[in-house]
Amino acid sequence: MHLSGKNIIGNSLSAEGRSTFKAVNPATGEELEPAFHEATSGEIDRAVRDARTAFWEYRNVSRKEKARFLESIAEEMIALGDNLLRRCTDETGLPEARLTSERGRTVYQLKLFAQLVREGSWVDARIDAADPERKPLPKPDVRSMQRPLGPVGIFGSSNFPLAFSVAGGDTVSALAAGCTVVVKAHPAHPGTCELVGGAIRRAMEKCAMPDGTFSLVHGRSTDVGLALVEHPSITAVGFTGSFRGGKALFDAATRRPFPIPFYGEMGSTNPVFILPHMLREKKEAIARDLSVSVTQGVGQFCTNPGLVFLQRSHEGEAFKGELSKFIAEVEPGLMLTPEIRNNYQAGIEKLEKVKGVSVLSGERKEVTGNRGVASVLQTGVESFLQEKIVEDEVFGPSTVVVSADNKEELLRAANALHGHLTATIHGTKEDLAEYADLVAILEQKVGRLIVNGYPTGVEVCHAMVHGGPFPATTDSRTTSVGTAAITRFTRPVCYQNVPAQLLPAELRDGNPLGIWRLVNGERTRS
Ligand code: NAP
Repeated sequence: MHLSGKNIIGNSLSAEGRSTFKAVNPATGEELEPAFHEATSGEIDRAVRDARTAFWEYRNVSRKEKARFLESIAEEMIALGDNLLRRCTDETGLPEARLTSERGRTVYQLKLFAQLVREGSWVDARIDAADPERKPLPKPDVRSMQRPLGPVGIFGSSNFPLAFSVAGGDTVSALAAGCTVVVKAHPAHPGTCELVGGAIRRAMEKCAMPDGTFSLVHGRSTDVGLALVEHPSITAVGFTGSFRGGKALFDAATRRPFPIPFYGEMGSTNPVFILPHMLREKKEAIARDLSVSVTQGVGQFCTNPGLVFLQRSHEGEAFKGELSKFIAEVEPGLMLTPEIRNNYQAGIEKLEKVKGVSVLSGERKEVTGNRGVASVLQTGVESFLQEKIVEDEVFGPSTVVVSADNKEELLRAANALHGHLTATIHGTKEDLAEYADLVAILEQKVGRLIVNGYPTGVEVCHAMVHGGPFPATTDSRTTSVGTAAITRFTRPVCYQNVPAQLLPAELRDGNPLGIWRLVNGERTRS
């Protein structure tokens, strides 16, 4: 396997910058070859200008050809075979089995968007016929549909080096929408980024997509990402990563002379509520399954359940004992990077110092290497309400159990929550009837509500919402997973009294593409 360490600018490789960096194997601390060239401002400018030029052609590529392009990316990713998995394991420490399933998810995602584009109805075509006889004024012919925004800047996260990275959800939804893409490679897995970027390049060549449809720029300094967000020809940004990074780039996007949509998918603590009857009936099973959800992938998931609410009781105490026992049995796991491990450790230490918080499990055993010890902490609703830091994401295998004195206090805690990606309720039929008001509160707080399950594991499908109110994301109206993610990179355009030959095919009389449309208020394919 040969890696060049160069930026991919359209159909060519480029290494103009003198500043370089290497990936580090988190298991051994060893630097991995080759050195990657940080993109210069000239290279970033070229990538975006090429994306702008390519956009004029790519936006009009037929839906069949676009679908074929997305499928071709999937095929080229699979063709990378074990080389991709090996490099990715070296850069992230994630086990090969996990990466194999993440690759499967990424490939499935590309194919699902290909189906969506080929079918075509996602554009939400609407037609209201003219009525020249209407009094007192004639009614015009009004038609509208979703159209692509233009070149999009994309940032992936370290914990999903395939599914939320170069050919991940943001890239596929932007390309499916008809946008061209410039990806900022994640510096924790630059070799993986180069391999997947190469797969996209080959798919572009195979499908004769315009040069500049896709580019990949490297950088360890935050200047590269900032320059991409600030480039005047970038029309939207998709970001997955930390709150700190997402908020900094969101601020940069809104400070621009021409502010642009910024879809920041950031961290979350994903509160779990265990209601009284369920606690009585299934405390041990929930403690065991919750400990798996908290610690799988060494807790490095944005959907990790970091807060557990219950009411004080004998059962509640027994549950905490069970949860602590299961968590204490989990071996310290290898984390993605030394920075993430250090931040995790610092986050736990900060929590331990909060008034009213105590440790249930997570004794700091002597751990070697870049490993994180799973932890359970506890507190009461009073402290939770006063010390807002308890609600902040600690990225790693930890959770805080918050005890309420009664139902009113539990609802008060729920009401005080800020935005999260998910909320989970464990309840019997009786509990759910009694706590219907909790459901109503949580619906205001999250993008996805789960009953009697666990938040880790996000299904890629049409109805998924992976989003939520701030600070989980910077725009709660959308999702970053599932086919609805496509409209982040489009806007509706209305055509009034526009002659047929100037209309997009989706809006022409006779429905030449055979898609579902809303014609005079009626959903039809005719
Ligand atoms: P990260 O450090 O924020 O990195 C994400 C990307 O943003 C990287 O390319 C990074 O480049 C860039 N970046 C970060 N700060 C920046 C700044 N100030 N200016 C310019 N660029 C900046 O996040 P991570 O460690 O990869 O991922 C872990 C986090 O992602 C967790 O908080 C997790 O919950 C969250 N996450 C969220 C989702 C979701 O869908 N909501 C999914 C997965 C992960 P540099 O490293 O060069 O700064």
